[in-house]
Amino acid sequence: FIIPDFPGFTKHIEDFYWKCKSNIEGKVAAYIPQLAHMNSEYWGVSICTIDGQRFSIGDTTIPFTLQSCSKPLTYAIALEKLGQEVVHKYVGQEPSGRNFNELVLDHNKKPHNPMINAGAILVCSLLKSLIKPEMTLAEKFDFTMNYFKKLAGGESLGFNNAVFLSEREAADRNYALGFYMREHKCYPEKTNLRECMDLYFQCCSMEANCESMSVMAATLANGGICPITEEKVLRPDSVRDVLSLMHSCGMYDYSGQFAFKVGIPAKSGVSGSLLMVIPNVMGICTWSPPLDMLGNSCRGVQFCEELVGEFNFHRYDNL
Ligand code: GLN
Repeated sequence: FIIPDFPGFTKHIEDFYWKCKSNIEGKVAAYIPQLAHMNSEYWGVSICTIDGQRFSIGDTTIPFTLQSCSKPLTYAIALEKLGQEVVHKYVGQEPSGRNFNELVLDHNKKPHNPMINAGAILVCSLLKSLIKPEMTLAEKFDFTMNYFKKLAGGESLGFNNAVFLSEREAADRNYALGFYMREHKCYPEKTNLRECMDLYFQCCSMEANCESMSVMAATLANGGICPITEEKVLRPDSVRDVLSLMHSCGMYDYSGQFAFKVGIPAKSGVSGSLLMVIPNVMGICTWSPPLDMLGNSCRGVQFCEELVGEFNFHRYDNL
């Protein structure tokens, strides 16, 4: 086993869980009713190691929408199907240093990276126009959802239509980003902007829980092979690129501090989920809706800090 004394390890995870539970900081996202109505008490932590050991505590089977946690996944599919060279003709690798939905492109008039809204919308246009362009909208939705599901080893993955409809309704900024990129000819030829935006909102509205998300994280931790099904879902070079950008850009405007303090590739979403990948060891997912000023889950960030305070999972520990 990769973690020989698993019960001893999970005892610590339980301690961190209870410690973070008393953290009542932060505010639940309020830009759509479905998120605004989330109970701020929800708090769950799930772990899946690369050899399939599992542990969950708290609200780990209640579904939540992936939101920005879908960004590394769509980026992974694009890399897998198109290769790094093609994907990065369209999108950069640099932290933007700005808000995740800021109306800004880099010096080459490309989105800064695939982990912010502009970059993720662009990646959706690549999924739509470059990968099997003959697919209908319905087939493209199924294709993307099935891919997410494979990453999760076939475990809980759904779609929340109410969130999708709300996202599409409350999306002035995302449309502004979409048009701004069209003005600068960012998309592949023949991109239909409305359809591309819909795919982006659909990806944000996919629904999972801590348990299934921890399997997705574990698939990334395991070089693209799902530890539950043993299926090879991604190539190691795709995984490397995804983890590199999660490390530098995954935590919004806290990414630099998070890379410094925690040193683990991670991605957070506005529903309060946090995906963490400890390469060659395990995947972790935490979920707690209240967010800090920068949009990261308060309990989630605290959990990460507790974890590296006790264990040497920081990328630059043990040198
Ligand atoms: N649906 C949100 C948006 O597009 C996702 C962003 C997030 O999770 N930060 O603005």
